[in-house]
Amino acid sequence: MARYTEASCRLCRREKEKLFLKGERCYSEKCALTRRPTAPGQHGSRGSKMSEYGIQLREKQKVKRIYGVLEKQFRLYFDRAARKQGMTGENLLSLLESRLDNVVYRMGFATSRKEARQLVRHNHYTLNGKKVNIPSLIVKEGDVIKVKDASRRSNKFKDIVEATEGKVAPGFVSVDLEKMEGTMTATPTKEDIDIPIEDHLIVELYSK
Ligand code: SF4
Repeated sequence: MARYTEASCRLCRREKEKLFLKGERCYSEKCALTRRPTAPGQHGSRGSKMSEYGIQLREKQKVKRIYGVLEKQFRLYFDRAARKQGMTGENLLSLLESRLDNVVYRMGFATSRKEARQLVRHNHYTLNGKKVNIPSLIVKEGDVIKVKDASRRSNKFKDIVEATEGKVAPGFVSVDLEKMEGTMTATPTKEDIDIPIEDHLIVELYSK
């Protein structure tokens, strides 16, 4: 399966913004962007004025990187969002936020979206009591995600609980950390997203 292979911190430095791709490290002083807030490469520290197209492109790249989605799939999400009623940009963010790997992360059952993706692929969760290993699956209102009993007892998940304890879950989920079970109680909206995103720039880019 195609996926981003570039080092996570390099992606943040490229976007000159924290994308929170590495879990706990992102909140610590070890964050590469805190230590070296310039774009990667030889000319990374040079400032240059971006064109309108450049600004739109960077916003799209940023969102793709936050959710770990490649261009082809991102375009499919956009087309799906455009077919739905309402604002295309907001529909797009709602779809991305509803991906299984994202919901798992937002429930606190993984320390980053990247880790959530990997753990979903390795069959550590159930969806409505059934096995699931597709990170891109769209979770719907009322769906219940649970960490499998055997996984819950593993050191990996003990570490995850320790790392995510105290973090506030977004309003579209309800979580029982003790049981390691969560329910999607509403469809996510733009307001639920924890990183500022200018979705209108993406709509403008694809509307050219
Ligand atoms: Fe980005 Fe996290 Fe790396 Fe900081 S530590 S640069 S937020 S991935």
